[in-house]
Amino acid sequence: MKGVKKVKKLRNLFLALLLAVSMSACSTSEDGTAATFKAGTYTGTSEGRNGELTVEVVLSDTAIDSVTVTSHSETEGIADPAIEQIPASIVEAQGLGVDTVSGATITSEAIIAAVTSALESAGADVEALKAVTSETTKQEDSEETTDVVVVGGGGAGIAAASSAAENGAAVILVEKTAALGGNTLASGLAMNAADPELEGTLDALNGQVDTLKAVLDYDEAEFGEYADTLTVLKGQIEEYLAGDTSKEFDSTEWHIIQTYTAGKRKDLDGNEISGQFDLVKTMCENSLDTYHWLGEVVGIELSDTLTSPVGSLWMRGHNFATKNGVFEASQEYIENNSGKIYLQTKAEELIIEDGAVTGVVCTREDGSKLTIHANNVILATGGFGANGEMVKEYNTYWPSIPDEIKTTNVAGATGDGIELGLQAGAKLEGMGMVQLMPTASAVTGLLEDGLLVPSQYYMFVNQEGLRFVNEYAERDVLASAALSQTDGVFYHIADQNMIPTLQNKATQEQVDAMVEKGIIYKADTLEELAELIGCPSENLIESVEKYNSYVDAGEDPEFGKNVFGSKIETAPYYAVIEKPSVHHTMGGLAINTDAQVLNENDEPIVGLYAAGEVTGGIHGGNRVGGNAIADIMVFGRIAGRNAAQ
Ligand code: ADP
Repeated sequence: MKGVKKVKKLRNLFLALLLAVSMSACSTSEDGTAATFKAGTYTGTSEGRNGELTVEVVLSDTAIDSVTVTSHSETEGIADPAIEQIPASIVEAQGLGVDTVSGATITSEAIIAAVTSALESAGADVEALKAVTSETTKQEDSEETTDVVVVGGGGAGIAAASSAAENGAAVILVEKTAALGGNTLASGLAMNAADPELEGTLDALNGQVDTLKAVLDYDEAEFGEYADTLTVLKGQIEEYLAGDTSKEFDSTEWHIIQTYTAGKRKDLDGNEISGQFDLVKTMCENSLDTYHWLGEVVGIELSDTLTSPVGSLWMRGHNFATKNGVFEASQEYIENNSGKIYLQTKAEELIIEDGAVTGVVCTREDGSKLTIHANNVILATGGFGANGEMVKEYNTYWPSIPDEIKTTNVAGATGDGIELGLQAGAKLEGMGMVQLMPTASAVTGLLEDGLLVPSQYYMFVNQEGLRFVNEYAERDVLASAALSQTDGVFYHIADQNMIPTLQNKATQEQVDAMVEKGIIYKADTLEELAELIGCPSENLIESVEKYNSYVDAGEDPEFGKNVFGSKIETAPYYAVIEKPSVHHTMGGLAINTDAQVLNENDEPIVGLYAAGEVTGGIHGGNRVGGNAIADIMVFGRIAGRNAAQ
């Protein structure tokens, strides 16, 4: 069924893989004659978004009896609706002209292509079957009234809707694709929060004490509104250095200062940009509490492990037990608190009366309109990283963004919220600041194909087998260094010790599957690894030896790496082929600490809130790894609470 519908529980969707959809209807070609098949079971393969996808098609003499996706490596959660719905639609239509599922178009097309190939091998007339389309019944246009509408069902959207529901509001969340998740689900989902208690149980890493000592030399005069925070931080560091430094240090102030220094950048015209103090402070001060709120109130299963995603600069990334669990639990919480979630429902236009936002007009998948009147609208539509044109149009940071650059983003990240905000006169902040993810897969452009190793544990070499950067640096520094290597391609070198540290908890089997796909190289010796990646083995061996000596010394005289994990010395060795990919758009709608959207005069626009990647002003010119999840959850929660009142 198309159009407005309450979201179906996506739990156990992996079972859809095993679910063969059966029908006894006969296939009829366009001219009305019954199709004939050579009965039997056929398989077909095609290339999905992340790799090969295989289907099994069972044919009787006159009908497509069943279609089953038997294997794939598509993104869990985001691709699930296509894997469930497309086989069913093909069987129902008895043809190949079925609609793709929004947000999972590539997966949908891959399933159709694999079925086409299976049917071809059965000798079927696939051209005739392509002309057989699925029938959609268009719903009547309709209207609803509620307290709060949330536009977008990624991390910011589910936090906002949960918080609005918690505070007693009637809430409707509209999501344009067929699944909740957005880029949040495609990310590493590590949420930075200074947690001195938990971090104090971890051994301090080599080099961390020196990093902290260097802060004592920072000059308050260069820190503007952040000066007082720096003074407090210096006091904390002095106290820490006078005591037991074998365990890790952290504080909210350290998180604030790192967010500021990592985000302070100049654009191509020499204009300086940095995170706004009040927004950064709000994010850092509320992150730990919000993380616990997600667990205790919303019911998301948390994990007590910490990580340090690439460009995070410190070990303060909090994890969730599973990525899908974040959306399953919040969906349940929202619906149990009388909230409604409408998938495949795209917000097209804000309703604006006397300068105040009073609702939103949406289009459903079948083209019918849904008008929702509300006291407040929260925009949580994510960034515009999947909108190549917009990225290029706004970019004021990168001297050039290669035409062939890929993106880590899901298809829905097209910047719709920017357009919606502009309809209400919103001010934009830092739009030219686009983050390239240095460690995306060079093969697919995606993040999940990178190993997601905490950044202290690995080294990078270029195609010549030479190190070229401090691997613990900020993302823009890494991406910029990578883009100046041959083809912008580099290898991320690690050893067997990385397996238990993988942020996405990839198992040995999953890593080996990536080896099979040609995304990761694995070898018993460094010589063999060098041969596999085609670089001079003496260079790779020397680079690893030098790197290991820096790990021992806790100091890197070549590139200034200042935080280290273990040495690279335990076979087998791994090399992941990587290349920067468009990842995060730091700019967006201007907001205040109450998550109200501001107009050009910095006044709140009545009835309009925003949270998450659609907003600007927090990350300056470079976002710290792990701060996106902190941002979206903290401001999503604030937006929901305020919009409910
Ligand atoms: P954030 O990290 O800020 O939460 P995400 O990318 O995770 O951002 O989620 C944003 C969600 O908003 C995506 O699922 C996307 O499909 C959805 N979205 C974007 N534009 C619209 C729109 N016009 N109407 C409804 N949903 C939208």
